[in-house]
Amino acid sequence: MLKKRNTLRPAQHSSSSKKHAQAHEAVTGNEAWYGDKPPDLGQGFTAADAAERHTTVTEILLRAAKKADKHGNTASAEAYYQLLDKLEDCRLRHRCGSLACPGCARAYQKAKVAAHEDTITSLKKGPNKQLVFVTLIPKKLMYQPGQFSKIDVKKASRWLKDVLKEIGKRTILGSADLSWETRRGQGYIQLHWHLVMWTESPKKLKKKLASIFSRTKKHERPVKVRVADDLGVLPYLNKAIKLAELLRNKRTHLPELLLMLDRTDPIDLMVHTKMRLIAQSSQLAFKPIG
Ligand SMILES: [Zn+2]
Repeated sequence: MLKKRNTLRPAQHSSSSKKHAQAHEAVTGNEAWYGDKPPDLGQGFTAADAAERHTTVTEILLRAAKKADKHGNTASAEAYYQLLDKLEDCRLRHRCGSLACPGCARAYQKAKVAAHEDTITSLKKGPNKQLVFVTLIPKKLMYQPGQFSKIDVKKASRWLKDVLKEIGKRTILGSADLSWETRRGQGYIQLHWHLVMWTESPKKLKKKLASIFSRTKKHERPVKVRVADDLGVLPYLNKAIKLAELLRNKRTHLPELLLMLDRTDPIDLMVHTKMRLIAQSSQLAFKPIG
């Protein structure tokens, strides 16, 4: 039987660059992101809601750890206990920074929404340009249960940025998103992206994107483009995963999903072109490149 450990595990992130670390610090070191000040993420996403979800997530992890232990899956049990320790140690001015932590995931979401709001508002894009909300769903980025450890958001985003060169050099801001989908009774995780960009013709842009992201079946819509009337899409764009919904009715694969979220760097979810992410007075911000 494994004992629950109480060692403190700081968040581990794939990049050790100073700027990257500063971006993390701007979120986890600023308690304002953990409260209920703007930006508002909508109903059901208050600090109290996150605290409630935190309790549920730790209960799920404890159950998964005990179950794995009972079945002799020592490695799995250890992984669940480690994540449980990390989440239980997350507290005021001592944040874990894990994407599997409902409180920290929400703080990152708020900080990103604020940075996107400020940047989009300040960017003056000619009178003919429209702000559009784009969803891109590459079919190859589907992961069945048991394969979640293969999800590499950073690598996938590098691929996306490379592919997007085909629509020309333009400013793009957005985030990767992980959704739980079901097809023919089989559940899987679909990695996809929500982006905002500017265009003179949403129709032409959609056509161009559709030529890059081909559909495989008639009913599938791998590319969605719609004019963004306001910035209300930003909390949705930056949600990373619909945790509340998964906790309500899709708990079966949550322990595995939580391990994957913990390995995923919240900053690496962000996708941007012609922009550089910086940390500025305990906030995230963007600076145009060049
Ligand atoms: Zn946390």
